Amino acid sequence: MTKNSFFSPVVGQLVPYVPGEQPKLVNLVKLNTNENPYPPSPKVVVAIAQAAQHGLQLYPDPEATVLRQAIATQHGLAAEHVFMGNGSDEVLAHAFFAFFQQGCPLLMPDISYSFYQVYCRLYGIKVKVVPLDGALRLQVADYACSAGDSVAGVVIANPNAPTGVGLPLGDIETLLKVHPGRVVLVDEAYVDFGGQSAVGLIARYPNLLVVHTLSKSRSLAGLRIGYACGQTHLIEALERVKNSFNSYPLDRLAIAGGVAACEDVAYFEQTRHAVMSSREGLMLALEDLGFSVLPSQTNFIFVCHPKADAAQLAASLRQRGILVRHFKQARIDQYLRISIGTPHQSDQLVAALTAILPIQ
Ligand SMILES: *Cc1c(COP(=O)(O)O)cnc(C)c1O
Repeated sequence: MTKNSFFSPVVGQLVPYVPGEQPKLVNLVKLNTNENPYPPSPKVVVAIAQAAQHGLQLYPDPEATVLRQAIATQHGLAAEHVFMGNGSDEVLAHAFFAFFQQGCPLLMPDISYSFYQVYCRLYGIKVKVVPLDGALRLQVADYACSAGDSVAGVVIANPNAPTGVGLPLGDIETLLKVHPGRVVLVDEAYVDFGGQSAVGLIARYPNLLVVHTLSKSRSLAGLRIGYACGQTHLIEALERVKNSFNSYPLDRLAIAGGVAACEDVAYFEQTRHAVMSSREGLMLALEDLGFSVLPSQTNFIFVCHPKADAAQLAASLRQRGILVRHFKQARIDQYLRISIGTPHQSDQLVAALTAILPIQ
């Protein structure tokens, strides 16, 4: 641990999140951070260019009202059921601060989005990890608490990352019923690639908070837009935290681009279906090469090969200009997480793996 005398006590204790590599090299086949391989809707670019011509000397709308309304409409909710933030990472951070600092542990899977544990360190939230089963699936029965055990809440990604495996809505309802007095946060960053969204349960469950991002299925990772949906008392808590931190998390360009992305439903449908269909093709091709592939409802697949070390495979792919993600973490260190690219990128990946892998 570092001993910088200028640090406040908590800073030396932090274990910051390490994002996937964003290389400066061009021409890499970048399948390591689950970005969308397609650019955003052309209407987004037009809307941003127009917004850039007016009013950048003025602060943006602190409530991002037009974007909030566009998102609410898309989900059949009222605007007061939506909270906007600078990427869903910021929304998650505010939610952890608002709901999980309870002195008792927050339940989360052992294998999930690693940022959750980072927020817990930052905010001094206790954690109880609940292991996924032997097939890396989440079993909701494991989240039932014995009487007298108090918990701060539950956070899961659905579909999960980095496994790609989704839970049915019935399982989400079970979690909501088991923990009626605590927030159950469902991070649906990847839900548009085939998962079942819990947004429709919000009216019935005052403890449900669903978090979404425009980074993945709307191709807007570079614009930083995320949001949470929940009943108004949860949104109010998030607003209180946000307005104690930064009143203007979404800038004028992001608001304009986000609205255009939400309105271009045809483009959204076309690109997400292209990703899902590439995913099915790539899964079959990798299975032919001897990989086992977890079922995926996301824009990535989680794979392992019985005859090849995952870290070495990632290094060999890198030498051939292909980036994939390897996690040096117990239980998953023989897996690779591979983002779904264009069909051409899939072909490049399969050709490289065919050359690298030992002959069967
Ligand atoms: C990518 C991702 C996020 C973060 O998305 P941003 O909106 O870009 O901050 C959140 N949760 C999960 C599980 C993700 O994979």
